[in-house]
Amino acid sequence: MLIIAEHDGQRLLKATFELVTAAQACGAADDFTLAILGEAQDALLHEAATYAPQVVASAHPSLTAGDPAARARAIADLAEQAEANRILMAGTRGGRAVAPRVAVRLTGAYLEDVVALEPIAGGLRATRYSYLARIAETLETTAAVVVITCKPNAFTAAAPRLDIGDIFEAELELPAPSMQVTARHTERSTRVALQEAVIVVTGGRGVGSASGFAVIEQLADALGAAVGATRGAVDAGWRPYAEQVGQTGKTVQPGVYIAAGVSGAVQHLSGMGKSRYIVAVNKDPDAPIFKVSDYGVVGDLHVVLPAMIAATAALKD
Ligand code: FAD
Repeated sequence: MLIIAEHDGQRLLKATFELVTAAQACGAADDFTLAILGEAQDALLHEAATYAPQVVASAHPSLTAGDPAARARAIADLAEQAEANRILMAGTRGGRAVAPRVAVRLTGAYLEDVVALEPIAGGLRATRYSYLARIAETLETTAAVVVITCKPNAFTAAAPRLDIGDIFEAELELPAPSMQVTARHTERSTRVALQEAVIVVTGGRGVGSASGFAVIEQLADALGAAVGATRGAVDAGWRPYAEQVGQTGKTVQPGVYIAAGVSGAVQHLSGMGKSRYIVAVNKDPDAPIFKVSDYGVVGDLHVVLPAMIAATAALKD
């Protein structure tokens, strides 16, 4: 089994730990290789070795150009070298651009955006959502080679292993890239990324205005959390789409999800329902969000959230 790590050159991203869990769900208890493609600091390679029995790395220049064709060729070559018959990638934009090409190169089956996996006799069973998550489909394959992308935040994150794995330099011969990313602009934000966050504070239409989101941001900053928004808040133009949580936004699975002024529509719940603890603040005691929340506060969020911010500050003193 071959796992293609998601990383930023310095550390592994959460999606990688989820892929390790997905590999274990496929039956690869301790028999998988983690591939680190692109430039990687030593600390990243050593971190990878705490999660996998074998780490294979390549900083080939064609892999840093952002060309999916070069990346697909590298992954297919690595899979053949490792005799891997299952190749797991994150269902990110990059993963989705590469995975079908790998499946074609290896004449394998392609399971896209899966949320659950289990071994069956001679093959694999997977679950994925279709039609904006209204339908859950079960798929089975007995193909010799299977390429899989996993939906971010659908699997829990694996813990490090007790043993440290071996690190190898990959031997890859890749052609010059057919395309190159020539500029990259990074949005400056001091906040953690939504899909990586351990705590998420989400505001809904109940926040009342764009400026009202200051209280959501203040609570997020006090807790070291990411900011999320409902589609109601995004459609109102109060928050960017990048923060939308739900069926047509991002899927998150933090340890704590705080929903303030959020009614709890089913399309919102499908993006955050797997959070470990859900805390709801809503002035309507009959709001559906309370049915899924572990802790609920009935009240005006503009009164309750400042009290939470003050309580957090008091705890830090
Ligand atoms: P509302 O439903 O209007 O709820 C606002 C809540 O705030 C109410 O419960 C109210 O009691 C409370 N409130 C008001 N004032 C206060 C106050 N001062 N203090 C405390 N509480 C207060 N939605 C998503 O979120 N994500 C999606 O990805 C998504 N995808 C969709 C896809 C489709 C195909 C469709 C049809 C819909 C989708 N929706 C999605 C929209 C979804 O159905 C809801 O309309 C939306 O989630 C509602 O947002 P809301 O909870 O912010 O607003």
